[in-house]
Amino acid sequence: MRKSTLFLALLAGTVMTAPVYAQDDLRIVDKPLELTIHMHWPRAQGYGVGGSPNDVYPVEQAAREMTGISLKDATAGRNSTDSYEAMNLLLAQGKLPDIVGGNRIQQPVNQYGPEGAFVPLNDLVKEYAPHIQAFWDAHPDLLKAISAADGNYYYIPYLPDGKFGRAWYIRQDWLDKLGLEQPQNVEELHTVLTAFRNDDPNGNGRKDEIPYFARDWEEVNRLLTLWDARSSGSDAYHDFYVNADDKVVHPYAQEAYKTGIKNIAQWYAEGLIDPEIFTRGSSSRDYLLSENLGGVTHDWFASTSGYNAALKDKIPGFNFIPFLPPASVSGVRMEEHRRTPIKPDGWAISYQNQHVEETVKYFDFWFTEEGRNLSNFGVEGKTWDMVDGKPTFKPEVLNSTSPVNSQMYLEGAQIPRGYWMDYSYEEQWTSPEALKGIALYEANDLLIDQFLGVAFNEEEQAVYDRYWPSILTYMLERQQAWILGTGDVEADWDGYMSALNRMGYDKVIEVMNEAYQRQYE
Ligand code: CA
Repeated sequence: MRKSTLFLALLAGTVMTAPVYAQDDLRIVDKPLELTIHMHWPRAQGYGVGGSPNDVYPVEQAAREMTGISLKDATAGRNSTDSYEAMNLLLAQGKLPDIVGGNRIQQPVNQYGPEGAFVPLNDLVKEYAPHIQAFWDAHPDLLKAISAADGNYYYIPYLPDGKFGRAWYIRQDWLDKLGLEQPQNVEELHTVLTAFRNDDPNGNGRKDEIPYFARDWEEVNRLLTLWDARSSGSDAYHDFYVNADDKVVHPYAQEAYKTGIKNIAQWYAEGLIDPEIFTRGSSSRDYLLSENLGGVTHDWFASTSGYNAALKDKIPGFNFIPFLPPASVSGVRMEEHRRTPIKPDGWAISYQNQHVEETVKYFDFWFTEEGRNLSNFGVEGKTWDMVDGKPTFKPEVLNSTSPVNSQMYLEGAQIPRGYWMDYSYEEQWTSPEALKGIALYEANDLLIDQFLGVAFNEEEQAVYDRYWPSILTYMLERQQAWILGTGDVEADWDGYMSALNRMGYDKVIEVMNEAYQRQYE
């Protein structure tokens, strides 16, 4: 085998570096094999650098040398950045490439897989993909979560690593200036926000501070957890959650939600929440921090910690740091947001693939140590070196003005193939402040279990599609009105609940729980 690998490499005129010779066990085919791939995601509509099929990713080149399998771009819908639209185009054209991958493929493969468009992977992975199977054996609930209604699974997902996502941030220098401590519970948070509003912590003599703000307006709902209500059960906003009785319910149809909204509306009326929370948009964090106006937010560790370095010259003493979630009225400290352990992104094998066994082995390659390093860090020796047994980015990668993730996308690493992220990829370029915050959150056991979703059968899907979109629209419409004070949640509540039931809420909950029982019990 070793001889033939070397021979083929020489024939191809490829320059091979020394470590590659030692990796003959990664080779899947003696004779080079080409497979076609659809790879559509927001940052690239096509499999190649920047989406260009003619510009081969360095990672793809290395994978070819290691495995003998090369992927050739056959992406549909290149003119659109909408991956759903691209998938519909692909399915409509009838001829499917060997591999169908990219963003949000879970729903289509779980819908069309049981109808025969994609190959069920359960037995194939058991037989030919020991590294993927080992992952499932260690994470059986994640396997349940990606399975279709027929009990099979049809794609290998992108599996994120690392637990923490968003955290609570506060202007510590404002606290210090006003002689206040970090708020430990909902009452103390109210006191601090009120002081931020009234006591001129930015010192300009004007009452211009915005105590609580968020660049995603949905983060106003995160305050619900302070009154023991929920805003979502997953890393997606407004999602269902699993309650203490192991039933799937929606947070916006619970009694605690009424109490939470009532209090949020009160805080809004008191000027503690950005009056433009629903309209200010994604630049609000940049704007309110750089103008020395924003006091508290709930946002991602990595990006939010960057403001201290960015603003230290502009705003003397600026110190925006993570603090523990304030305890709720019943004394619960909860960080409701966490990274999902499993994404709807990844890749699947189409029914037209004539090399299913080789393709499954190829999928498994990305879960070997070498494949995992390649998919996370790029090509060894080019973007990283092994230092003390750990893949370590080269200084020029870490010190570049371009973010590491953007650099990786151009290498062909961190793209939504089916792969297992390695958090150390991100840890290496996460600021010391953020790492300190993560350690604080880690030490306080703040995370709760996530609802990982269900796969409907055809009838359940029809019920969900018929009722849910208009129910959610109605919920959000009422929510916004209540928070803005154009309605009174207390007075409206019974009518709201009857409206939800008239609109089919109970029917949706019923199919949700049927699917949930089937999938997870
Ligand atoms: Ca002021």
